[in-house]
Amino acid sequence: MTEKETKNWEKFFRVTNSDEFDYAKFDPDATPGLSDREEAKAIQAVNTERMHDLQERLYAENKQALLIVLQALDTGGKDGAIRTIFGPLNPQGVQVTSFKVPSAQELAHDYLWRIHQHTPPKGMIGIFNRSHYEDVLVVKVHRLIDEKVVRKRYAQINAFEDHLQENGVKILKFHLCISRDEQRKRLQQRLDKPDKHWKFSRNDLAERARWDEYVEAYQAMLRNCSPASAPWYVIPANKKWYRNAIISQIVADTLAKMDPQFPPPEEGLDKIVIPE
Ligand code: AMP
Ligand code: MG
Repeated sequence: MTEKETKNWEKFFRVTNSDEFDYAKFDPDATPGLSDREEAKAIQAVNTERMHDLQERLYAENKQALLIVLQALDTGGKDGAIRTIFGPLNPQGVQVTSFKVPSAQELAHDYLWRIHQHTPPKGMIGIFNRSHYEDVLVVKVHRLIDEKVVRKRYAQINAFEDHLQENGVKILKFHLCISRDEQRKRLQQRLDKPDKHWKFSRNDLAERARWDEYVEAYQAMLRNCSPASAPWYVIPANKKWYRNAIISQIVADTLAKMDPQFPPPEEGLDKIVIPE
């Protein structure tokens, strides 16, 4: 993969506001730029090394943070992506937060309250498994808020993300896009394998029945919350190897652009000898 092709990748999957992003035209099976699993694994291995080194610098520098937001329909692969891509990093430098149905205490506050508590501090990589975007996705699909409020929330989320980025938290947002048929296969696998039963919930079927409404909600969100400063990346995620290679590439490139530096050493270290 040449430098130029890599850059195209990043552009290829980036959503822009002016783009009328069309979910129906997006192919979750596509693997542009990569021919097979072996090539993808090799690219991922290189990126794991890069992320590992850059994460240590980020931690040592202690001046900026990276927040990675993962959103997908059920079985989209958020858990697998986190395990496979970020598993090899130093756990001291990474914090993962999974957002579930809000608690009574969380519901008593504005929807960003619980989110802000988990944004990564300086030096850390934060990973959101679901996020504030649930509040314009599942909440919209179930009509817990009306369209006027949804539109206000797009603006509030854009402002919130601006605020974070202006305060040293770089944001990367990935939507793992799978097809309806791939979801069927993955749900069926959860039923077929006893050690995956814990991941299956009858509620997943009720949500699956609302597939079209979710697609509509995702499409509106992707179009409205992709300013140039914090765009969404929509990743074809039917093939896990492709998903992992692309995300690792974009994360490693982003960390490299953040260019974290080791702090300057104390003066005179070269004269110190550790006494017996
Ligand atoms: P899972 O990720 O499979 O553990 O499921 C978490 C569940 O929590 C999903 O069904 C989400 O839709 C739901 N959830 C997460 N955030 C919210 C939210 N803000 N409002 C309502 N449901 C949510
Ligand atoms: Mg689930």
